[in-house]
Amino acid sequence: MEYKTLNNGLRIPLLGLGTYLVKDEKEIEEQVLNALNIGYRLIDTAQAYQNEEYIGRALKKSSVKREDIFLSTKICFANYSPERCEKSLLESLEKLQTSYLDMVLLHWPFNDYYSAYRVLEKYYEKGVIKAIGVSNFMADKLLDLQNYNKVKPAINQVEYHLYNQQKELSYYAEKYNIDLEGYSPLGAGRVKEIFQEEKVIELASKYNKSPAQVLLRFFTQKNVTVIPKSIKKERLEENFHIFDFSLSDEEIVELDKLDKNLVLIGNSESPERVESSFSWYK
Ligand code: NDP
Repeated sequence: MEYKTLNNGLRIPLLGLGTYLVKDEKEIEEQVLNALNIGYRLIDTAQAYQNEEYIGRALKKSSVKREDIFLSTKICFANYSPERCEKSLLESLEKLQTSYLDMVLLHWPFNDYYSAYRVLEKYYEKGVIKAIGVSNFMADKLLDLQNYNKVKPAINQVEYHLYNQQKELSYYAEKYNIDLEGYSPLGAGRVKEIFQEEKVIELASKYNKSPAQVLLRFFTQKNVTVIPKSIKKERLEENFHIFDFSLSDEEIVELDKLDKNLVLIGNSESPERVESSFSWYK
C-alpha cells in the first residue's frame, strides 16, 4: 500500500474501500473483513449510507488494530446546525465503536455548512478527529471555506474517474494545498465504456492488468486517493493489486486526454441537485 501526506501531516492510504449502497449487515461485514484481510487500510463511510453501525461491528471482529486503519465518515447535510452536527458526530463515533475518527467530511455544500465546519474544527482541536474536510465542493465554495476558517480542509472528496478528471478543481486544490480524494473511480458501475477505451485496453494488455487496475493506478499516480467499492472478494483483490506496476509519463498524458467533464453524481451546483436535497431535511 502506498500513502500520501495531507496538509496537516497525517498519512492517508492512496487506496481505500467504498461502502456506498452496502447496507445489508452481513454483506457489509463480509466486505469490510475481506478488505482488511486483503490489506485495505482506509474505509470510507457516511452517516447517509446507514451502515456505520455494521462497519463498527466488523471492525471490532477484525484482528487489524484500530490505529492501523484510516476510518473516514461524512456528516449528512441534514445535520449541519451546530447542535445536530455535534450530536450526529457523537452518534457516528458510537456506531463505529471508536473514540476517534481519522477523517470527517461535510458530505455536500448545502445548508449551513459553515456552522458544521466549525463543529468539526472544535473536535479536530480536541484530537477526536485527526483530519477534517469536505466533499462535493466545487472550487468557488472550497476556496471561500478554506479562507474564512481556522483549519484548512485536508481533503475534498469528489467524483473522479476517467471521464471526470476534475481539472479545474485540481488546479485550485493544488494551489491551496488541499488534497482531492476520488469517489466513483470506476464510474459508479454506470459507464462501462471506461473499461472499453482502446488506450485502457492496450495498457491493460501491456502490463498484464485489468482495465480497472489501469484506471486505479492512473489516479493514484496522480496522487489522488481513490475509494472503489465492490462487494465481491475477487474484485476487492483486483482493485487492491495496483502498486506493482507504473504507467509512464506519456501514458498518463494519453489517459488525461480521455477526460470528458462527464458528471455522474457530484454536480452540487445544479438547481435540480439542490432541490433534491430538500427532501432529506426533516
Ligand atoms: P465505483 O466507481 O467504486 O464503482 C462501483 C461499481 O463498480 C459497483 O457496481 C461494483 O460492482 C463495480 N466494480 C468494482 N470493482 C470493479 C472491477 N474491478 N471491475 C468492474 N467493475 C467493478 O462507485 P461508487 O459510486 O461506489 O464510489 C466508490 C465509493 O465512493 C462509494 O462506495 C462511497 O464510499 C464513495 N462515494 C462518495 C460520494 C460522495 O458524495 N462523497 C458519492 C458516491 C460515492 P460490485 O460491487 O458488484 O463489484
